[in-house]
Amino acid sequence: MEKRYDPYENVISVMDKAMEIGRIDKYMFEILKNPQRETKVYLPVEMDDGTVKVFEGYRVQHSNIRGPFKGGIRYHQECDLNEVKALATWMSLKCAVVNIPFGGAKGGIKVDPKTLSKRELCRLTRRYTYAIEPIIGADSDIPAPDVNTNAQTMAWVLDTYSMLKGKPCPGVVTGKPVELGGSKGRASATGRGVVISAKLLLEQEKKELKDCRVAIQGIGNVGGNAARIFYHRDAKIVALSDVSGGIFSEDGLNADQVSEFVEKGGLLVDYHEPGIRHITNEEVITCDCDLLVPAALENQINAETAEKLQCRYIVEGANGPTTVEADKILEERGITLIPDIFANSGGVVVSYFEWVQNLQELTWEKSQVNDMLENILSKAFNEMLEERKNSNCSYRMAAYIIALRRLIYAEEIKGIFP
Ligand code: GLU
Repeated sequence: MEKRYDPYENVISVMDKAMEIGRIDKYMFEILKNPQRETKVYLPVEMDDGTVKVFEGYRVQHSNIRGPFKGGIRYHQECDLNEVKALATWMSLKCAVVNIPFGGAKGGIKVDPKTLSKRELCRLTRRYTYAIEPIIGADSDIPAPDVNTNAQTMAWVLDTYSMLKGKPCPGVVTGKPVELGGSKGRASATGRGVVISAKLLLEQEKKELKDCRVAIQGIGNVGGNAARIFYHRDAKIVALSDVSGGIFSEDGLNADQVSEFVEKGGLLVDYHEPGIRHITNEEVITCDCDLLVPAALENQINAETAEKLQCRYIVEGANGPTTVEADKILEERGITLIPDIFANSGGVVVSYFEWVQNLQELTWEKSQVNDMLENILSKAFNEMLEERKNSNCSYRMAAYIIALRRLIYAEEIKGIFP
């Protein structure tokens, strides 16, 4: 049995390995093993029934060596400082591997948002923004959506921050509604990046999306948009899941219909249609498919589940879905994986486009945004292929080596203050 999963240990141990395989000079590495700043805040909120509850919130700023801190904010009952620290580190690596001029950060609140009304969520978000206001800003740290947060959440952050500053500050967050300066294409960007990653991988394998049977765990922003785009590119979606469980269809699911049902607040346990079978979340991971997209939380592909996988390929939509132990098993079993820091970078890449549009007071068309996203990912994918050849390693190792080289080079050339 695997010891208790620790996401921060996970990212550090993958970094350690990449430093060895890539033979990177360790002189500055110690710096990257710790975030630059960890902030923990306590957030009192008056609930609708008049009682007061205090929630715990976090913002971890891992590195701003390559540009302002950047990363989402998640609302989850199991969120804690250690998880946010790992997620912030992944953001630094993610921005470095696709070579956009951002560092890495992440925020979170320990809360199950399903237990709060919309008005309570609004008050909680505004109080959190107030608490972290001194350390965020368009040129210092730019939040965005993550698990259980969305464009509405960003609108509240933006409004609160702008009120405190006494002027509109659209560049302080990305992933905001288009009406408030958000970018066209941002909402679906992470899912689109997952599909582009899958396409780039399959090209290497001389295969096509239309011959691919896809299983997706999670139907939130990442999984839901990926499912729709896969479906419209003629891949067959055989399995989908949400927190309530999964559905499976040998003949393929209509991702538009299922997503619409979920967007209206439905749970997949209640989704019924001829020809579909209800399965557990673990069965979605281990079902018979060609391509598996974990797009939920960390630690889904672990020592236990990795042995049972029936897929040939994995594209990580979630951050940190695979443990170090599982990675070894996947390599032994010949399952090829495109790592999170590349595969789900579409979101932050289009966040970068959003931020640039805000700073320049421009708006770009969706087709332009999507084309630029595809270009950035294709270029970074080619760099990964090259590194994979040079270092004779997995895609994950190649991505980490590229990212760490860029981060460490930036540290070296800048030197240490004072
Ligand atoms: N939360 C997303 C991620 O994990 C997007 C972050 C961003 O756009 O800043 O990459």
